[in-house]
Amino acid sequence: MDQASSSLTRVKRRASQDAIVESSRKRLKEDVDDRDHVEALGDTTFMQELADELQCGCCAALVYKPVLVLPCQHFFCGSCCVLWIRNGGTNCPSCRSVTSIATPYRALQGTLDTFLRWAPHRARSERERQQADEIYSGNNLRIPGPREASPEPNINQNTDFAQPCPHCSPGNPYGWVCPQPIPDPNMDPDHAWLLDEGDPPGHARCGNCEIMLALRAPTTSKCDMCSVSFCGINVQGRCVAASLPAQQPHGLGDIGDLIECSFIYDCFDGNNVEVEIMLDYLTAQRLTPKHIYREIIAHTQSQPRGFRTLIGRNIFSEIHGAVDTDPDIPRSRICRLCAAEVFFAGLKDWWVRERQKGFLEPNVANRKDCPHGEACSHQKDFGHAREFNHIFMRNTNAPGSGPLPALVPLNAGPSVPNVAPETLPPALDVREGSITSAPATPDFRDAIDTFL
Ligand SMILES: [Zn+2]
Ligand SMILES: [Zn+2]
Ligand SMILES: [Zn+2]
Ligand SMILES: [Zn+2]
Ligand SMILES: [Zn+2]
Ligand SMILES: [Zn+2]
Repeated sequence: MDQASSSLTRVKRRASQDAIVESSRKRLKEDVDDRDHVEALGDTTFMQELADELQCGCCAALVYKPVLVLPCQHFFCGSCCVLWIRNGGTNCPSCRSVTSIATPYRALQGTLDTFLRWAPHRARSERERQQADEIYSGNNLRIPGPREASPEPNINQNTDFAQPCPHCSPGNPYGWVCPQPIPDPNMDPDHAWLLDEGDPPGHARCGNCEIMLALRAPTTSKCDMCSVSFCGINVQGRCVAASLPAQQPHGLGDIGDLIECSFIYDCFDGNNVEVEIMLDYLTAQRLTPKHIYREIIAHTQSQPRGFRTLIGRNIFSEIHGAVDTDPDIPRSRICRLCAAEVFFAGLKDWWVRERQKGFLEPNVANRKDCPHGEACSHQKDFGHAREFNHIFMRNTNAPGSGPLPALVPLNAGPSVPNVAPETLPPALDVREGSITSAPATPDFRDAIDTFL
């Protein structure tokens, strides 16, 4: 069929559809007394309007497993939001306002379920749902903060070609010159490097400000977790993969950032009571996220498997970069985003160790251990979480890399059931805190902070 006749068919089909609509309108007029019919049409309009309201701001289809972006309250498919973050999104995909979290939108999911019971034909296909489920698992999504833009974006720049890096010109002020400089597309268009070909030899983009950098320049640093390089030139303190203990976890400047970051509730299996206990403790002890981060780093380095456990859990590759999983690679530098990942991955275990120091109020410390253990599904329940302890000591110093670290109840005593003495590790690991971390006096920690 040639194009003309195919479009003619389309027109014809349209015409016949119009005829159907027209005839049904006519029938409706005639049947105006038929209440059911009128209501049915009302439903259709209503359902259409509702479907419009339930549309994802990213893919424009009926939203699937919605997440709510806070505080602007736009919602999207969880999978759309993950793809947005993976593609470098650092704000709300719809209004671009600042956000750090997208959280499962349970209230809307309820509306959606009801809607789909009445309009099942609007549901996504099995395959589409499967694909979305592979991308988004239903948890809170932490949205990384905005990266600093380069100070002076040149609007005249042709975005098809690579721009020279700060080290490319022989007269640059940084004391090092690129052996393979990138030709300036404005001066030497014939030799300009087409960005479609990938990064120019010896160069990459800064993981923070996104300018071209020279991989071997002395100012360049590379994150040993996500393999992304940083220019060390544009934005002080941000365009850098720092040594592990010196890095500042992204978006976690002070305890206020932590309180506002609902992601920490995920670190505690939804046990909000325990999170509140910890936040009160951190506030009273004046502990900053960076203190905690440094102790997590020190603890991780003291473990036989070092960072291999975290790398095995894929925490670094999720948002950006590609991780070199070679176990023998030295891990000495880290970027701000990876430092934040380390922080969240280690926060709960840090808290388990910190509690051993005995600073908790007796009414908190003396609660009975929950018989369901640390994975108890009732700990989301406020009353239950207040009544029972759900934080259990992990014996992480066990030699080798056994399948699972042994669990030892925190308040281990004669009342603990089902734990035969021979299954207990040789010693309760209470001394570990004093070995791997500083005493919990604020003065001492502040002194370290100043020192770093
Ligand atoms: Zn979507
Ligand atoms: Zn928004
Ligand atoms: Zn260069
Ligand atoms: Zn940079
Ligand atoms: Zn990194
Ligand atoms: Zn429980």
